[in-house]
Amino acid sequence: MRYTSTRGQTPALSFSDAVATGLAPDGGLFLPETLPAFDAAQLARFDALKNDYAGLCFEFLRHFATDIPEETLRAIIAKSYTTFSVPEIAPLKQLSPDLFVLELFHGPTLAFKDFALQVLGNLYEHQCRVRGESINVLGATSGDTGSAAIHGLLGKPGTAIFILYPDGRTSPLQERQMACTGAKNVFALAIDGTFDDAQSALKDVFGDQEFRTRYHLSAVNSINLARVLAQCVYYLSAWLRLPEGARASAEFVVPTGNFGNVLAGWMLQKMGVPIRGFKVATNQNDILHRLFTTGEYSVADVRPSLAPSMDIQVSSNFERFLYYSLGRDTARVREVMSTFKTTGRYVFENFDRDTFSASRCDDAEIPGIIKRVYQDFGYIVDPHTACAFKDLSRDRASVVLATASPAKFPDTIREAIGMEPTDPALEILKARPLVKHKINADPAAIKAFITANAV
Ligand SMILES: *Cc1c(COP(=O)(O)O)cnc(C)c1O
Repeated sequence: MRYTSTRGQTPALSFSDAVATGLAPDGGLFLPETLPAFDAAQLARFDALKNDYAGLCFEFLRHFATDIPEETLRAIIAKSYTTFSVPEIAPLKQLSPDLFVLELFHGPTLAFKDFALQVLGNLYEHQCRVRGESINVLGATSGDTGSAAIHGLLGKPGTAIFILYPDGRTSPLQERQMACTGAKNVFALAIDGTFDDAQSALKDVFGDQEFRTRYHLSAVNSINLARVLAQCVYYLSAWLRLPEGARASAEFVVPTGNFGNVLAGWMLQKMGVPIRGFKVATNQNDILHRLFTTGEYSVADVRPSLAPSMDIQVSSNFERFLYYSLGRDTARVREVMSTFKTTGRYVFENFDRDTFSASRCDDAEIPGIIKRVYQDFGYIVDPHTACAFKDLSRDRASVVLATASPAKFPDTIREAIGMEPTDPALEILKARPLVKHKINADPAAIKAFITANAV
């Protein structure tokens, strides 16, 4: 299997090279040259592994990571899920006859991004070993990506990781997860500005080919190909574990920011797993809600919310969706992306309307939803997951993806239900010193920092 760019101007690469490269040199995002078409026999092989998460993940990823020997890949994946605190890895809880919650927060940083970033960290480690090269990982985060990336690479020899985040705009516990690791290869960079400012400075740093090559830079934001692929697996796992009746009709309801999570589910559907549909649940930063209700994709200012990991206005994975929606016409993708860059707006003529629905949740509604879910089901959801409980379908089953542990957002939960959930992993962090580096969201300052600290 080879990987090509959504913009069509990068030679096809192997899985490992596409993963190591991150953003394609032509500015596009990597995708498989062709998607596999899973037939009934393959679905049966998956089904036999539905209670073995790491085994299922291997059976899925072996179709994609074809340049890694199978036994090596199996070991990388097995190791990645040993850091999770429950044997099911992604428990599927049933709250009512047609309401399920897929808990994606039992990894080391208590949010869904661990699913991909534990695997990515071990893939990087494997590559460093095979190539005898070091790797410097650079990413921007609005909260959970950064800590999950850091915990994917924590203390791994031959790697360093630099994570930019908007100072004061992540939750205090998210910041602690990044800045209290004590690991020498981890650098938490607090910038003055928003997540989009951080991401835009980062794009510039990656745009400097010479610098990028010299330091073996790799991106770890939600655009990395390995993330999207690893995330397909929990949709597959959940779908396989649904009761027969719910399988055909269930809609996956996904708290959404950069579109990376829901994109993975949608790609799995394109590979032949018959998932009925997806609901894109946004917070008050609703670019994707507007897209899926009106067809218009247009930028607006970020308004900080109680669900900070969804506080984005430009969705970086959108380009992959665009590529498929434009019939894989890379010239059209280039044209649309360049128009979008200058006008901040694009109107879709054609997209998969049958598969997608959308909901939007204001900050003012979040505590009320947390309270209602607690009263109705005795179940505590975090503020991101709460957004997905807005306007649930009455005529089909829903599988809500619980993207973070409520213990990460004690203030909002206390306001909603008068008590604070806790988690031992977070209690440990509170006793550790916080080490962060304040820096301007300026490409030159970032490069200077990397130059001084790279491996
Ligand atoms: C990152 C994140 C999201 C948004 O995921 P995307 O892939 O950006 O759509 C939602 N909830 C939580 C808790 C997150 O960390």
